[in-house]
Amino acid sequence: MCRHLGWLGADVSVSSLILDPPFGLRVQSYSPRRQKHGLMNADGWGVGFFDRSSGGTPADGVPRRWRSTAPLWGDTSLESVAPALRSGCVVAAVRSATVGMPLDVSATAPFTDGQWLLSHNGVVDRGVLPLTATAESVCDSAMLAATIFSLGLEVLGETIAQIGTLDPNARLNVLAANGSRLLATAWRDTLSILRRDDGVVLASEPYNDDSEWEDVPDHHLVEVSTKGVTMTPLDEPKGF
Ligand code: GLN
Repeated sequence: MCRHLGWLGADVSVSSLILDPPFGLRVQSYSPRRQKHGLMNADGWGVGFFDRSSGGTPADGVPRRWRSTAPLWGDTSLESVAPALRSGCVVAAVRSATVGMPLDVSATAPFTDGQWLLSHNGVVDRGVLPLTATAESVCDSAMLAATIFSLGLEVLGETIAQIGTLDPNARLNVLAANGSRLLATAWRDTLSILRRDDGVVLASEPYNDDSEWEDVPDHHLVEVSTKGVTMTPLDEPKGF
């Protein structure tokens, strides 16, 4: 079970989100506090962010990614550069690979379709995924990302509920962003939200002991945009 974090708000540094907090993704890479499956997340990390520096399209910024199969805790290059990486929309993850999945950068979140960045915290039977031809890797999370990209993020909640019904053992915590929207599902794993004055954090677990963190109830979809935060229960689907 991996851990992930998303940010939507003012431009902030990547280090302030994942390296500096006392229980941020760097610490979660070796000592997560709420992880139910797996003891640590040593199989790599990924940082994705939206870059508005060059204008152009997409209007909300160009998704850029930096991924590695090495543990986050020892990455001195990221540590050096992360204070200078600033964005108003970030998706980052540390990975604990599911048994049998490839240990490649291409299997490491965040995944992208050129517009969205997406991380999956969980496991899914690849046999139930209908649309996976464009997946970056045979890793279940990459194939889930390809399915979600194909069906469209507008139906993320329905897609997760349907896949969760087809594979009752699936754990489907997904985090996705496109520069102006941040979406997340809680489906059989932990998810927390922090509403700050300068933006919103969605994370597998709180990165500090601030009392403002709220737990997102299981089987819910969260959407963050400039209009605010909405939380929607994910109902049992009627069929694929
Ligand atoms: N199943 C995915 C992988 O193997 C995600 C694993 C996880 O959430 N720990 O990378």
